[in-house]
Amino acid sequence: MDFDLSEEHLLFQRMIRDFVSKEIEPLAERWDETNEFPYDIIAKMADLGLFAVHYPEAHGGSGDELTFVIAVEEISRGSGGLGAIFLASVGLAMYPITLFANEAQKSNYISRVIKGNIAAFGLTEAAAGSDVSALTTRYVKKDDHFILNGNKIFITNGGEADFVTAFATSDRSLGYRGISAFIIEKGTPGFSVGKLERKMGIHPASAAELIFDDCKVPAENLIAEEGKGFKIAMGAIDASRVSVAAQAVGIAQAAYEKAVDYAKERQQFGTAIARLQAIQWMIADMATEIDAARLLTYRAAWQTGKEGHAPLKEAAMAKLFASEASHRVCHKALQIFGGYGYVKDFPLERYARDQRITEIYEGTSEMQRWTIARQILGVK
Ligand SMILES: Cc1cc2nc3c(=O)[nH]c(=O)nc-3n(C[C@H](O)[C@H](O)[C@H](O)COP(=O)(O)OP(=O)(O)OC[C@H]3O[C@@H](n4cnc5c(N)ncnc54)[C@H](O)[C@@H]3O)c2cc1C
Repeated sequence: MDFDLSEEHLLFQRMIRDFVSKEIEPLAERWDETNEFPYDIIAKMADLGLFAVHYPEAHGGSGDELTFVIAVEEISRGSGGLGAIFLASVGLAMYPITLFANEAQKSNYISRVIKGNIAAFGLTEAAAGSDVSALTTRYVKKDDHFILNGNKIFITNGGEADFVTAFATSDRSLGYRGISAFIIEKGTPGFSVGKLERKMGIHPASAAELIFDDCKVPAENLIAEEGKGFKIAMGAIDASRVSVAAQAVGIAQAAYEKAVDYAKERQQFGTAIARLQAIQWMIADMATEIDAARLLTYRAAWQTGKEGHAPLKEAAMAKLFASEASHRVCHKALQIFGGYGYVKDFPLERYARDQRITEIYEGTSEMQRWTIARQILGVK
């Protein structure tokens, strides 16, 4: 058993950490305030090859699942919002394509994301959140195209996406067997962006409503076969959970580093607060929880790469533990800053807001516990 990252992974980690410290971290506070979408940084990331790290060489890529997870962690250390944009575009929205699409679709869409095109994953609806099979966006087949009608909500990158992987049903009475997956290009007739949510955190990532109003999707934009959409959606979410775990670890790491530095500097009662046992215990717990969360996350990424799909139980464990550990870490870090943790001159309150979504999207903590328990108990 080897817990060390390979030389390539270490080199990549150093390179991206440096890039994040110089180019991303200084802008995170401004993005948090203004919500402006960081097109300039995305172009720089594309130039650096950061959007290629998730894909095999055969499709122009240059990394693997673990490289991708390291990238998500490091980007999220600088900005949880940019971490969300990155993982939703390069990971979540693309898994339906990388895992299930035909060669022509793979080569087209992977190469576009590598160049910096933005992708989004459209599954959630007003009445279909955790219960994905309740979705009501419907489609009918007509000659050489499909007609979609319905609305998606809360879609990360929905406001900016160049294309969306989205899910609709041909017949609600068929349940999950009626669902199919499509690739929908920006500008497709009948496709528009509706309400943009005002969120608690992960600015500048958008959470948008997508509207399909007699949206005419070419037949070649169907992914795999009709009726396979539920399997495709679940495969994508299972895999993407690992990157949400990495996002949670990255935000926690940022909060922890700030808290350690602050504890050494801040003087109260004539001594650095780092000398107080109450503070030391918080720091010890934070370091231990981040380490455990990272190990679970890297293990799940490593297994995904080895097995070609995400390990259901281990991916859920990584997401559950990392997101809840990140919650505890961010709040302890904020506590170490005292009143300064609560005001916007320091990033602690931003970390606590950004971290919170990792317990909700791509399966709430309750859904992760359900998944883990079903795997252990062998029950449906
Ligand atoms: C900022 C943001 C970005 C998002 N990005 C995307 C995106 O890019 N694409 C996309 O498709 N979706 C996205 N979502 C949607 C997200 O995945 C859902 O919000 C999430 O899955 C929960 O669904 P829900 O909000 O409908 O909550 P509900 O499913 O209504 O859950 C409400 C509560 O009930 C609990 N619950 C539900 N079912 C069970 C159960 N069986 N057992 C125990 N507890 C249960 C939940 O854990 C939760 O506490 C995003 C959401 C947000 C807020």
